[in-house]
Amino acid sequence: MSLDFGLLQTLHRMLRQLTDIEDRMRRGPMKVKIVETNETSFATDEAECLSRQDELRRSSNEKTMQLNEREAKIEDMKAKLNACESNKEFQLLKDRIAADLQANSVLQDEILEMLERLDVVNAEVVDAKANHQKSKDETAVMRDKVKLELIELTAEKERVSGELAESEKDLPGTMMDNYRRLVRLKGENSFAVFMIDNCDNCNQRLTTQTISNLMLKKLVYCPGCGAVLYTKT
Ligand SMILES: [Zn+2]
Repeated sequence: MSLDFGLLQTLHRMLRQLTDIEDRMRRGPMKVKIVETNETSFATDEAECLSRQDELRRSSNEKTMQLNEREAKIEDMKAKLNACESNKEFQLLKDRIAADLQANSVLQDEILEMLERLDVVNAEVVDAKANHQKSKDETAVMRDKVKLELIELTAEKERVSGELAESEKDLPGTMMDNYRRLVRLKGENSFAVFMIDNCDNCNQRLTTQTISNLMLKKLVYCPGCGAVLYTKT
């Protein structure tokens, strides 16, 4: 009995379609995973920026408070100058005021430097927040897209599987068990095209006997990969 190579070709095409659909079904969640990883990294950046901003704000506030306290102390000392009862006492107080003024000037420079750094960090926070938000939006879009694709691919898989089951009914009953086993193990590689002298799956060179069996459209398994061989019609 001769085999319908057109049917084998159709089954092969459908099995390939199923492989392709299953690959795409697997790629969807991977694409989501990638954007989710990006989002996590942008969230970490934002948290780090916010923490640096917080730290700088806190230390510049502390230093400003320190400066205010010292300035108040200087004013206090200045008020006491007139009440000095000796020249020595007056000179001592004047020296302390001068030393504190000097210390305050250093503190003012430090505060100024901190505020400049804070300006830079504030701008970084704005960027980090924008990047994080953008990444969140991208993740949401990707999740929706993949969800929709999955619905479409599931329907497509169902359709092709239905067509495949329908076409499989035309295979000779004697090869059914072997066919089922092959498909379970090898999927789309259950079939192979015979090209010139070789199996298109594994490049095994076929014997003259095998080729003549193929020419007679007999059921031939590739001795190399075990696929059912056919010639294109
Ligand atoms: Zn082969």
